[in-house]
Amino acid sequence: MRPTGALHLGHLAGALRNWLKLQDEYQCFYTIVTWHALSSEYQNSKIIKNCTFEMAVDWLSIGLDPNKSVLFIQSEVKEHAELHLLLSMIVPLPWLERVPTFKEMQRELPDKDLNTYGFLGYPMLQAADILIYKADVVPVGEDQAYHLEFTREVARRFNRLYGKVFPEPQTLLTEVPKLAGTDGRKMSKSYGNAIYLKDSPQTMRQKIETMMTDIRRKRRTDPGEPNDCPAFTLHKAFVSQDKREELAQGCRTAGIGCLECKNVVIERLDEILSPYREKRKNFKKNPKLVWDIIEEGNKRARVAAQRTMEEVRARLGF
Ligand code: SF4
Repeated sequence: MRPTGALHLGHLAGALRNWLKLQDEYQCFYTIVTWHALSSEYQNSKIIKNCTFEMAVDWLSIGLDPNKSVLFIQSEVKEHAELHLLLSMIVPLPWLERVPTFKEMQRELPDKDLNTYGFLGYPMLQAADILIYKADVVPVGEDQAYHLEFTREVARRFNRLYGKVFPEPQTLLTEVPKLAGTDGRKMSKSYGNAIYLKDSPQTMRQKIETMMTDIRRKRRTDPGEPNDCPAFTLHKAFVSQDKREELAQGCRTAGIGCLECKNVVIERLDEILSPYREKRKNFKKNPKLVWDIIEEGNKRARVAAQRTMEEVRARLGF
């Protein structure tokens, strides 16, 4: 995850909730990818350290458990950079040029000049992040599936040239609910429409209460369509199916008002986030503890990464 800003409900619904489950099923490596952040924030690099700390606080507060998973910072394990460099020698340039997210991200972040060598190599660094731990599976949403295919191609090419070192990581496809932001567009920090995990209960309530709804419901007596309602994307991500169906029915028949409907998701989010908020307060008061936990993760990651790099260097004849 890129440390470029505070985490919002989209991160919770699309990644973190799934990561919490996975840590009971797999030996997981979760990394705060500081170098990836630099690829778009190179003109603003000083924000990365604080964002990294905030991200670590959020991860720990939401329940990622350092006793189960390895939680670490990418740039604290220098072997990622070495593997990235070595792999970049064998990857044909067109493989990178055709990555669809390269152009997409350039479009999504028009205020950044992303026409750099580092940004073009973004998937290459991602491949190194994955292969260095010989990952069997990687949880990704559909929009990231191509990156994983790219990683498999890189692994195959390395293995063909030098002998098998890397397993081909499989996609663990995660359903990423499309969450709308307060203005109805996709929830995103860059649109200024995000509802952040660290928002106080009051701020969160206020943001959701004023969030866009189906425009058909101008008056309380107008029926609406939940599938055309930006606020209802929150219900889809966080409210149980039974309750959702009941609310959808109420919306279509004008049996309930928007505030009543929104109140259900506000209360549900309060329930989900209340332990997180408590823990967050404590971690914020104790930054040393947070850095110590992450340093422990860095050490564990280094051991695994160094083991792979010894093998890689030997295969290359270095
Ligand atoms: S009742 Fe709920 S689903 Fe329907 S428009 Fe209002 S907020 Fe959206």
